Amino acid sequence: MDGKVTIEEHFALPETLGPGSSELHRRLQDFHGERIELMDRCRVAFAILSLNGPAVQAETETAKAIDMARRANDLLAEEIAKRPDRLGGFAALPMQDPEAAIRELERAVAELGLLGANVNGFSETVGSTTHLYYDRPEYRPFWAAVEKLGVPFYLHPRNPFFNDMPFFEGHPWLTYASWAYALETAMHALRLMCGGLFDDHPRLQMVLGHLGERIPFDLWRADNVLQKNPRGMPAKKTLRAYMQTNVHVSTSGQFHDPPLHLAIREMGVERVLFSIDYPYESMEQGSTWFDHAELSDAERLAIGRTNAVSLFGLELS
Ligand code: ZN
Repeated sequence: MDGKVTIEEHFALPETLGPGSSELHRRLQDFHGERIELMDRCRVAFAILSLNGPAVQAETETAKAIDMARRANDLLAEEIAKRPDRLGGFAALPMQDPEAAIRELERAVAELGLLGANVNGFSETVGSTTHLYYDRPEYRPFWAAVEKLGVPFYLHPRNPFFNDMPFFEGHPWLTYASWAYALETAMHALRLMCGGLFDDHPRLQMVLGHLGERIPFDLWRADNVLQKNPRGMPAKKTLRAYMQTNVHVSTSGQFHDPPLHLAIREMGVERVLFSIDYPYESMEQGSTWFDHAELSDAERLAIGRTNAVSLFGLELS
């Protein structure tokens, strides 16, 4: 398919490169070379980039987190300005300080032209609570600000802290993207939904990668159990209602027809968006799969392009 749009593609600052090959590091720091060549070859017209993870979220000193987010967003805006026809961006946010996160998001949208926020899971901090999940009450002004700005919030994975989770012990192959990322991110997304966030902010739009971090698969069972026994859950609606009203999912790193069809059936085709997760995943593999996935022409166009155009208000040539 020509003219595809992708929404979970990454770049890095030198200090956020993390573990990985020199090849990966080179690709993370490339904006206009191999990245654009691959987009041309794979017929990707436009890519929305975000800082890699966990980056800002792993910075325990709030002042450093604020500074890192600002520098990442400035760099991204500078690079986008060289190719605004092909690249867009998400803001990184210092969620360690909800007020600073609001200010940075407002600056990123109004001054830098970024299209939303992409946050790498919970934020670390020093103090009595070391893991900040965004269903905490101090984040309600932040969510009100996101709703008011009308931009999507992408909840991107990070590893959980394995020393709190004995079932990972001795099984390092289950960390990162093979299993732990979706486990952590689904829990965070479910905390937000079950905590009633979308009852208070019904216009908020959250994006989950990896075809919904396994939530669509378990949606019926979770709702069925919660309806019988909500155990004091604050949310007023079913998880299905939030997934169909407040959540979008992207195909990042999930290049397989059955989970794609499941997401379409459970959420609606207008809630599913194409993505790669480049350079952690192969742009050729993801694009070849999507171009041949079992979809009607109308579904392919919606998932590959027009859903992203509507969600982000893109003006593409
Ligand atoms: Zn990613």
